[in-house]
Amino acid sequence: MSRQPTSLEQAKIHRYGKWAGCPNGNPYQERYCAAHIMMGGRGSLPTQCRSKPGHGPDGIYCKTHALEHFPESLGTWYKSRFGYTNTIEPVQVANFSGSTVTVITGHTSHRTKRSGSDYSYFPTFDEAKDWLIGKIEGRLKRAESDVVEYRKTLENVKSLEP
Ligand SMILES: [Zn+2]
Repeated sequence: MSRQPTSLEQAKIHRYGKWAGCPNGNPYQERYCAAHIMMGGRGSLPTQCRSKPGHGPDGIYCKTHALEHFPESLGTWYKSRFGYTNTIEPVQVANFSGSTVTVITGHTSHRTKRSGSDYSYFPTFDEAKDWLIGKIEGRLKRAESDVVEYRKTLENVKSLEP
């Protein structure tokens, strides 16, 4: 069985059911789930799943295959906020791509960018925390160099003479 595609880009060049008698296999059909599945019994060839997509990376999988092949990447993610509030909160994710994430809130969901200047979504708490620590350390470094500058300025001003 071939490896499952992990993005829309990969799915588009993926071939299903390749064998000696059909060396090019069948192309990916975007209206179906991108998973390779075995149909029928012994000696049958892998084929593309016929379920409705909308889940997993780039939304190319059906819910069942998204959970089967990418169980770690769906469900609970973490949103880090930096700046006014510095928090990490769990969120429910239905779907994601390289740059977007679909967050479930109550009975609805919305697609949003995975990160901005003051927030970012991560599949694990540790990544969310590392990002937030990095942001605050960057801010602290700037503040420390500001202090050095102000001390120098203060000394200069104190040494002024008429
Ligand atoms: Zn499927």
